[in-house]
Amino acid sequence: MADKRAERIAELIRPLRVEPGSKVNLAGDFDPGYKADLVKKKDGRQLLETGIALLADYQRRLAAQDTYGVLVCLQALDAGGKDGTIRHVMSGVNPQGVQVSGFKVPSAEELDHDYLWRYACRLPARGDIGIFNRSHYEEVLVVRVHPENLDRQKLPAGAKGKGVWERRYREINDWERYLADNGFKLVKLFLNLSKEEQRTRFFKRLDLPEKNWKFSAADVRERQRWDDYQKAFSQMLSATSTSWAPWYVIPADRKWFARICAAAVLAHTLIGIDPQYPEVTADRRADLLVVKGELGAQAPKGVPADPYAAKKAKEEAKKARKAEKARKAEKARKAEKARKAEKARKAEKAEKAETKAEAGKAEASENAEAEAEAGPVAGNGHRPEESRDQSARASRARSRTGSQDGTAQAAPRASRARRGTATAGQPAQLSPGTTRSRSQGQPG
Ligand code: AMP
Ligand code: MG
Repeated sequence: MADKRAERIAELIRPLRVEPGSKVNLAGDFDPGYKADLVKKKDGRQLLETGIALLADYQRRLAAQDTYGVLVCLQALDAGGKDGTIRHVMSGVNPQGVQVSGFKVPSAEELDHDYLWRYACRLPARGDIGIFNRSHYEEVLVVRVHPENLDRQKLPAGAKGKGVWERRYREINDWERYLADNGFKLVKLFLNLSKEEQRTRFFKRLDLPEKNWKFSAADVRERQRWDDYQKAFSQMLSATSTSWAPWYVIPADRKWFARICAAAVLAHTLIGIDPQYPEVTADRRADLLVVKGELGAQAPKGVPADPYAAKKAKEEAKKARKAEKARKAEKARKAEKARKAEKARKAEKAEKAETKAEAGKAEASENAEAEAEAGPVAGNGHRPEESRDQSARASRARSRTGSQDGTAQAAPRASRARRGTATAGQPAQLSPGTTRSRSQGQPG
């Protein structure tokens, strides 16, 4: 079951992964509007909830094990949905185990250090999940698109000359490898937004008063450098997706799908770590039992030695009583249903029998009346107007009994026999002297 879930997650994120060593052309290789066929929007909420619950469980184990840490790096253009992704994906986890760090234009103090320093200061501890809202990748993105940022970094001449970006990619890869080797796994998410969807989101920030605070004219100016950013993203993804820290390009035009994907990549990483609650050794267990005995001896008079176990036992007993009551109620409900169904069946049967009896009586009395009216029988054994009257009577009887198919079960046997007609399921009555051949009614 758990394996199936892990498989499904792996399948969902496979197309988003940037293969280490591949050359990425963002516009051509990744569609911001992509949505996997296996996910429907109507199921999206439920799926995200399941993912969030899964993350919460893994985070508890990560914290308990206290061996690995996870660093999530979120990169995107303005309005790409970084804040919303963090808010939704992390909504179920224990805030004590998560630290979110946002990175803006570096401060004077930060510029006084090497360019990775401020990021290193915010790395998560073992057992924790750190989230970088913008990350050290700004050092090869905004700094590359606006080289004046590089000038401000007070670098020695050799560090900012030719080959600076290749060098930075290498340094970042090395730094991430060092982190991975030491138990810190990286989850690198690039939220890939289309230019038109960004325009729509800027308008939302302009149109809705409660969103105005998010609007920045600088973001709109930055949009003029769209192509430069796309190129910088492509180069960054090509150079820094590694086996120890691969990039995932998250289609970001549909927020709900982006969040599911982000949660899935994080879940995939945690599943890979598979953190376990620490095992209790036999010695430790023995120590705990000694302490248990000592604490139990301190119980006041009339109070259970282990109040927690007593409370749990009480709760269990209550739960069992409740379940038994529900089981009995269900049984009674079913029995009552069966009783009602049987009663209804009997009533229907009785009504049918009554209708049949009434129809029989009516026809018999009509037959008697007709015979009385008709007078003497002719030489051929029929009364002159018999056949005409018979069909009229039969039709009246049918309409009284409500019989639709005209089988007129209610017609008395005597009258049927006289006409020599067949009733449903019965062969016609044979006149005396006629022999039945074997082929009639009996298999040869
Ligand atoms: P926001 O994320 O909207 O609050 O904006 C933060 C701003 O800081 C963005 O415009 C980033 O491009 C900018 N920023 C982040 N890191 C750096 C950096 N290392 N150098 C220059 N600007 C940066
Ligand atoms: Mg901004």
